[in-house]
Amino acid sequence: MSMDFSESPAHSVFRESVREFCKRYVEPVWIDIDERGLIETDLIRKMAENGIYALTISEDLGGQGGTFTEAAIAGEELAYHAPALSLAVLFIIQSSWPYTFQLYGHEDAKHEVLPEVAKGRAAIGIASTEAHGGSDVADVRLHASRDGDSWVLRGEKSMVSLPGIIESLPWGGGWFTIARTGDPKLRHNAITDFLVLLKRRGTRDSTISYRPWTEIGRKGLDTSVITFDGTRVSDVFRIGEVNAGFRIAMEGFNLARSMIGAITVGCARWLLDTGRDWIKQREVFGRPIANYQSISFKFADLASELESARLLCYKAAWVADRYYVQKDGSVDLGDVALYGAMSKLKCAALAVEIGQNVMKWFGGAAYFKETPVLRAWLGALSYVLGAEGTENMLRLIIARRLIGREYV
Ligand SMILES: Cc1cc2nc3c(=O)[nH]c(=O)nc-3n(C[C@H](O)[C@H](O)[C@H](O)COP(=O)(O)OP(=O)(O)OC[C@H]3O[C@@H](n4cnc5c(N)ncnc54)[C@H](O)[C@@H]3O)c2cc1C
Repeated sequence: MSMDFSESPAHSVFRESVREFCKRYVEPVWIDIDERGLIETDLIRKMAENGIYALTISEDLGGQGGTFTEAAIAGEELAYHAPALSLAVLFIIQSSWPYTFQLYGHEDAKHEVLPEVAKGRAAIGIASTEAHGGSDVADVRLHASRDGDSWVLRGEKSMVSLPGIIESLPWGGGWFTIARTGDPKLRHNAITDFLVLLKRRGTRDSTISYRPWTEIGRKGLDTSVITFDGTRVSDVFRIGEVNAGFRIAMEGFNLARSMIGAITVGCARWLLDTGRDWIKQREVFGRPIANYQSISFKFADLASELESARLLCYKAAWVADRYYVQKDGSVDLGDVALYGAMSKLKCAALAVEIGQNVMKWFGGAAYFKETPVLRAWLGALSYVLGAEGTENMLRLIIARRLIGREYV
């Protein structure tokens, strides 16, 4: 058995190139983005030009053909240099949902949309959550009915990110959309996925409307209630077989979660580094507050936790690569789900915990926006509260896999 905890030379070079990009284009603007809202199309284009937008799209579809380990590296660095997380979240959405579409979408649809995503001219989000409860994906009610060689969608999705970003991009894009295509009593066996385009080749679909939620953090992205009022989707944009959409969508969630671990680790690293710099220079009662063991011991605990979380998030990426890239049969889909869930559960909660402690070390100053720690904490909080699965849903996945479905 060989075990090597060092980064490969190729991965180190890649990390350094992402870091350089971030120092040049991301670090100087992240607070401005978080203040003003909506990441600018120019920055998205630059990310794409530098190979760090939709990293996992295959080369024959105009992408980088990057691995999930590379995506974890890029996500960690983006999050470290823009810890309010909107850029990193956009990055992981574009590295998971377009990839899942690439796995199961129709060739014509893939060749039309994915090269545009790879160029940073389009985005694909996920439309799963509905107002009656997002955790129970098998209970989606957005209705899709067949009409000749197309489908007609009616209903609403709630808390769906990216409509404003998609509208701002020159080509457009849409969502990997989970819809009911059969008897609701059949639950996950009567669900089909579609790529529903809000904007296609620059033209807006007028049957889709949205009402924005007001985000408290990660303000570079927008989230809305989306209404589909007789939206027509060609059968070419169906993703996978009819009524097989639940399992396919779960693959997308698994991949997103494995990368959410990495971006929340990047956010946590920034928080802890910022906290360390602060406690070394902040003098109260005549000494740097790092001299007080109540603070330095807490720092030591958090640094140890962060190291273990970081190992877990790279293990999750490694497992995803084993399944999707190496395809060597050493892991199965259940492993991808397990490690993705563990990674998101552990890393997001830790980023929030580190943020809370660092804010306390800053004292009253943490309450003001001039101290950017709160922005990072709010970014990580979105993943503890719900985005891409609540903590209890992650626990459900982990417990089912490790204890057995018949018990949980
Ligand atoms: C910033 C942000 C961005 C988002 N972007 C998107 C997006 O782009 N697309 C999208 O589709 N969704 C998006 N969401 C929604 C997110 O996926 C949902 O919030 C999440 O799936 C939970 O659904 P819910 O909020 O309806 O909570 P509910 O499902 O109502 O759950 C409420 C609480 O009950 C708990 N619970 C539910 N069932 C059980 C059970 N069986 N056992 C134990 N506990 C249980 C949950 O864990 C949770 O704590 C976003 C959310 C946020 C915060």
